[in-house]
Amino acid sequence: MKVVGITGGIGSGKTTTCKIFEQLNVPVYYADIRAKELMLHNEQLRSKIIQAFGEKAYSNGHLNREYLAKVVFSSKEKLSVLNGLVHPAVGADFEAWLEEHESAKYVLKEAAILFESGAYHNVDVTVLVIAPKEVRIDRVTERDGFTRDEVLKRMNNQWTQERKAKLADHIINNDGTELLIPQVLELHRKFSS
Ligand code: ATP
Repeated sequence: MKVVGITGGIGSGKTTTCKIFEQLNVPVYYADIRAKELMLHNEQLRSKIIQAFGEKAYSNGHLNREYLAKVVFSSKEKLSVLNGLVHPAVGADFEAWLEEHESAKYVLKEAAILFESGAYHNVDVTVLVIAPKEVRIDRVTERDGFTRDEVLKRMNNQWTQERKAKLADHIINNDGTELLIPQVLELHRKFSS
């Protein structure tokens, strides 16, 4: 079974693209969503996060996302501490998930920082979803109600599209001028063969 890593910068449309693959019955592991679930429900991970970031990391049993985001998106060092705690937990969870889907021809692993984290070394093939910076900013401000500066802060913690494109095996253009579905169908044919 092939593991296809799919990534793209904030607002590029990677989740939208994955939803199309799901319509084709391709199992998709959403690493970022899963990471948030593990941060909440995995006791070991939770206590390590509290050790590193203090009790404030959680409030009323919930992950204090606002606080954590403020801390990690203003310090590269803190971001890498958090990633160092979360990534091994997600890695183990993904391995278990893979076993559940071993009969699939291929699966997708969606991760925002597939290249930055080095996780791309552990997948068979990579797909990068791209869209121009201004389009991505507009999409995210509309979707999340973030300010332009908040989106830019997050973007600055990710590699540029150009840097990622050099490593990607396939690129999906989601700038709004090219339809997504035919691009997904073409890759689906390739990955299924
Ligand atoms: P993030 O990393 O922030 O989770 P993402 O790369 O997963 O972002 P999506 O959530 O798929 O991006 O898309 C961002 C927003 O842009 C969503 O509201 C989505 O509906 C919208 N969007 C994505 N692709 C298109 C498109 N081709 N045309 C119009 N809107 C789009």
